[in-house]
Amino acid sequence: MQKIVNQAATGQPAVTRIVSIEPFIPRSYHVLLVEMDTTEKHVIVSSPDVLNLKVCYVHCMTKEVKHATVFHLTGPITIHLLSAKKFPGYYYVCKWSERHHRYACSSLEGKQCGFCSHIDELAQLHPVA
Ligand SMILES: [Zn+2]
Repeated sequence: MQKIVNQAATGQPAVTRIVSIEPFIPRSYHVLLVEMDTTEKHVIVSSPDVLNLKVCYVHCMTKEVKHATVFHLTGPITIHLLSAKKFPGYYYVCKWSERHHRYACSSLEGKQCGFCSHIDELAQLHPVA
């Protein structure tokens, strides 16, 4: 038998907001995107010290925003945002990786293959010496 507690009588709030203690874990089907109100195809954001980037993870099939957060990146840093055709109003996050000596892209193709049309575009704009 479940005991029903009169919450008002105990001084506890009747409604408890359940806060998930689980951090959001991006899966392979989540795409990291930046929402921007612009028609530019390619936007470069950079900072010599701190860059706060508002990002969200979108389900690649349902296109639902599953998680939104802010990346606090330390500079000097340059991020290339390339318009995501599949997600109007959103941009893929591309970044030069000094460690891998190539661009990385948050698009599905970029994540899965390490190569995509966005990386190709950036490589043409900024040829690697
Ligand atoms: Zn890409």
